[in-house]
Order: sequence, then C-alpha cells, then structure tokens
Amino acid sequence: MTRAFAYLSPKNIPQVGVEWDGKFYNFTQAWEIFKQIKLDGKAPELGFIQIIVELDLFHTETFDEVFNTLREYRPLNDLLLSPPFTFQVPIERPQKIICIGRNYREHAKELGNAAPSEPVFFAKAPSSLLAHEQTVRLPSGVGAVHHEIELGVVIGKTASNIAADGALDFVAGYTILNDITARELQKKDIAAGLPWFRAKSFDTFCPIGPYLIPRESIADLQNLNIELRVNGKIRQEASTAEMIFPVIELVSFVSRFCTLYPGDIIATGTPAGVGPLQSGDVMEGEIEGLGVLRNSIS
Ligand code: MG
Repeated sequence: MTRAFAYLSPKNIPQVGVEWDGKFYNFTQAWEIFKQIKLDGKAPELGFIQIIVELDLFHTETFDEVFNTLREYRPLNDLLLSPPFTFQVPIERPQKIICIGRNYREHAKELGNAAPSEPVFFAKAPSSLLAHEQTVRLPSGVGAVHHEIELGVVIGKTASNIAADGALDFVAGYTILNDITARELQKKDIAAGLPWFRAKSFDTFCPIGPYLIPRESIADLQNLNIELRVNGKIRQEASTAEMIFPVIELVSFVSRFCTLYPGDIIATGTPAGVGPLQSGDVMEGEIEGLGVLRNSIS
C-alpha cells in the first residue's frame, strides 16, 4: 500500500509524507535528492500533495521510481519519519468541493427523500476543510449538527463532459471525507425553497484525510466497507457497493455541468445512520484501505 499525507515538520514547514513499502518517508526531501540525480535539479519543489496532483505525478509509479532510484544511490534511513504526525489536509486549496446527495438508498429514505433518478449535487465551501485530528466547532444557534461519512474522490486531470467509461483516468486518488451538516438549518432552508449551501459550509465542517491514496492502489473501489463511529459506537456502516451511482458515473455526470480541475474534490454521498453530534464527541470515519479519519467536537 502506497499512500501520501500532508504534515507539518517540527519547524512548521508543510511537507509530504509517503508510506512506501511499509515505512513512512519524507517524500518532499526524497524528491529534492531524486531531482538532482535524475532531472538535473530541474523540477518544482513538492511540499504539497496538490502540486503533485496538478503535475499529474500522483501515481504509485512516481513514488516507486523515486524511492527505488534513491535506494540504488544511498540508504533511505535519513528520510524515515516516525509518528505521531501533525496532519494537514491532503488537498489544501481545491477550486471546489462537490457533494453528491442521496447516493445511498437507505440514507435517502431516512431523511424522507425518494432515491434520485440522476445524481443530485451541491457545493461545500473549500474554507470548511479540516485536517485529521483537528476539532469540529459546533456553531451556536443552528440546532442539530450531523456527521456524514463519505468516500472522497480527488480529481487528477481536467475533466469536461467526459464519458463514464474511462472516468477513473481523471481521478488522482481517494480519501475519507466527513460532510458535516447543520441539519436543522438545512431542513429549514429547503422548506423555505432556499439553497442549503450555508448549512454545509461552516468553518471546520469538512474533515478530510488523513491519507490520499493513488487510484491505482484501490483495486475494488465499489466494494469497500465504510463506517462511522461516535465515541467508539458504530453509527453508519455500509459498503460502497450500495452507491446508487458509482464513482465513474458521478465524475462523468458532474463534468457535464462544470469542468473539474486537478485538486477538486467530489464527496460521493453518505450511507444511512447520520445523527447528531455533541460537544466532547469523537468521530472516527473508516473506509477499508483508506485509514481512519478522527475528529473531536467542541
Ligand atoms: Mg453528504
């Protein structure tokens, strides 16, 4: 399993870490050495995963090439990292976060909605992004706030009006995303015929991470267990097999309406079991092969 994460060095400098061959390495530093050896020093610095994505380098073969090349020249020991890490969001400045609504039948039902005949989507403000192990803040005076565990898809190549067949070629990788929602405010706005953007977009309402996993590393995307626990108790438990519209159709569908750019994020909908959060709760979102995204509530 190869997976990347963003973290802060002890001097608070953003770096990219990569788990490769069972160990954690400083990829930002590995890349600096690799580019001197192989590229005559001519390549940008890779301190952010989003830059790796934008350069279309976010592939398992890039990480394999860098670490295998370095290993021929020198030991990798001085590039080793040891946890704990101060995680940062894996993608820090997406142009947009698109969320799919009602993409699991049982969840549509629990909120009193019919299963849609075509994907339903809306946006969430990128300023709502929050890293692994950071704290979600409950806004006052808006009523119940709910968790929504979702598979997050990060776009790797500009996609406009693309077909579902081959849509995964436009994907860089996958992560875990928690589409935190001010549910009562959302219902109130919907009832009044208003958009529900604000109910989705409070600061800290989009925990994401801890890892971004290259798409080549996930063999069976539509057959992953997806689960959310609050204080250790399971609230949401399903499989990505239960999505009404699979990821290829979602990417294709959204690209018919707005061009998707590298770094853009699609949240693919949440399964049944959404529920209210209290101050002091700890949420753990887990997707098979993607890790565990943990956030507390204040
Ligand atoms: Mg959602």
